[in-house]
Amino acid sequence: MGMKTGKAFLESLRDGRRILIDGELVTDVTRDPRFSGAAHTIAELLDMQHGAEAEKLTYVSPTTGHKVGVSHMAPRTQEDLTRRRAGLKTWADATYGMMGRSPDFMNVMVSALGTAHPFFEQAHKGCGDNMRNWAEHCRENDIVMTHVLVNPQVDRSRTVEKQEKDLAAKVVKEDDRGIYISGARTVSTLAAFSNEVLVFPSTYLTPSPEAADYAFGCGIPIATPGVTWISRPTLLPGANACYADFPLSMRMDETDAVVVFDNAFVPWERVFLYRNVEACNQVHSKTSSGPQAATQSAVRALAKTEFMLSLALRIARSTKIDEHLHVQGMLSEIMVFRETLRSVLTASEVNATVSPFGTLVPDANALWVVRMGFPKMFIRMQEIIQLLGASGLVAVPSYAELRGTGADLVDRYYQSANSDAPERIKLFRLAFDASMSAFAGRQQLYERYYTGDPVRLAGMLFNLYDKKPFQERMDGILEDIERRNDAWDGGTAGSHRLTA
Ligand SMILES: Cc1cc2nc3c(=O)[nH]c(=O)nc-3n(C[C@H](O)[C@H](O)[C@H](O)COP(=O)(O)OP(=O)(O)OC[C@H]3O[C@@H](n4cnc5c(N)ncnc54)[C@H](O)[C@@H]3O)c2cc1C
Repeated sequence: MGMKTGKAFLESLRDGRRILIDGELVTDVTRDPRFSGAAHTIAELLDMQHGAEAEKLTYVSPTTGHKVGVSHMAPRTQEDLTRRRAGLKTWADATYGMMGRSPDFMNVMVSALGTAHPFFEQAHKGCGDNMRNWAEHCRENDIVMTHVLVNPQVDRSRTVEKQEKDLAAKVVKEDDRGIYISGARTVSTLAAFSNEVLVFPSTYLTPSPEAADYAFGCGIPIATPGVTWISRPTLLPGANACYADFPLSMRMDETDAVVVFDNAFVPWERVFLYRNVEACNQVHSKTSSGPQAATQSAVRALAKTEFMLSLALRIARSTKIDEHLHVQGMLSEIMVFRETLRSVLTASEVNATVSPFGTLVPDANALWVVRMGFPKMFIRMQEIIQLLGASGLVAVPSYAELRGTGADLVDRYYQSANSDAPERIKLFRLAFDASMSAFAGRQQLYERYYTGDPVRLAGMLFNLYDKKPFQERMDGILEDIERRNDAWDGGTAGSHRLTA
């Protein structure tokens, strides 16, 4: 089938999926106002693969020789990493880094999982081919994917198999044709606009026979019978707003949904992990999918920071507050964030290592800087926009006011030193949407949690990090103090020196 056009993508979403929102069943997300903005944004991204940016966004498939999305590439050389990064950045810039789950996020991850097929084969016979075939199917057919990893928030003081209310998705039956799943998972971003979902493990499973029911991984269409998606309410504002009033919310509410499986059937060829608790606990660390996906997140973080820097600079210029030293200080904070992210990306590529599967994997330690640091950076950037915009963020009226009965007043009184009224209103509404709206609040939550619980992530980094050189270094320093102490002459000759 090859790379989708935006039109073909929109058609592919009219597949009988069950999306619930506000107490209703939505049958066509491409035409429902709560969903259509983001659906068309994804369509726009896919169209870019056929347009002026095609060279950056595509590469030649290793199996069919057709042009496919570059985010599916399994990098094997430094040139591959550079090429993939350029493609990721092109999409991230097109969405100002505000769409965490643009299709490249999953493409990068699934490509890494497909390459790691020996891991899956070892975990369960046949699963290696299944994983590789699915990754190829997604690459060759430009399948837009989401994933869902987390058991519902019921009782976090107990492990999943010990819950009193057993609501988490688990395998309830198997037969010659495949397995059957019932229960819920939370949450899946972009589900409403995806073709397929990767249902994978994330949190630690206890090595016990009871936990094995929850130990599975599979990839199925969003419209699989017995699968229902329950979406949160939209972030879109009320009916009177126009596009320029909420330019981010209108275009990029990628939505989040809980999924409920009701005896949903998964054929064996779509099962990637099965009843192997140990493999489920290791899948993110042993397949190098973690650092590969983190690269996409780091590129997106860079694009988002560059957007926030452009916004902050323009706000500061519009009323000339950039002449004040502390304002320059805040703007340079964002510049430092940008340079940090750029440096981290370069370091991750320069220090890339070859995985057991022959792919080049960006250095995970460098990428941890983004994982742990970017939520704080982004929240600070939003704060800086608020501090610079101040009352301007709530003083500007709706863009429609420029054509309303008070148009002459608005045209005159909403000018600033460096902006006319239309520019000032557009700029400050954009700033509002980036730092204060429901969309902005959800962006904060996304950055805090999209890659997992920051508390447990910090613990993971602590445990993974090679601490030995630092422990040995301190042993050496303490021994040195001991030797100098022994040599100390009371200060009369001033000597703590160990050499003559
Ligand atoms: C906007 C958004 C989009 C997301 N999109 C996706 C997606 O597309 N796909 C997907 O699979 N997931 C997605 N997630 C889910 C994300 O993976 C989880 O939010 C994350 O793993 C944390 O799990 P939780 O939300 O259930 O929080 P919980 O695990 O319930 O944690 C809540 C709080 O309790 C504490 N806590 C709970 N249990 C423990 C424990 N055992 N030890 C220590 N502290 C604990 C945590 O530190 C945290 O402060 C998304 C989340 C958000 C917010």
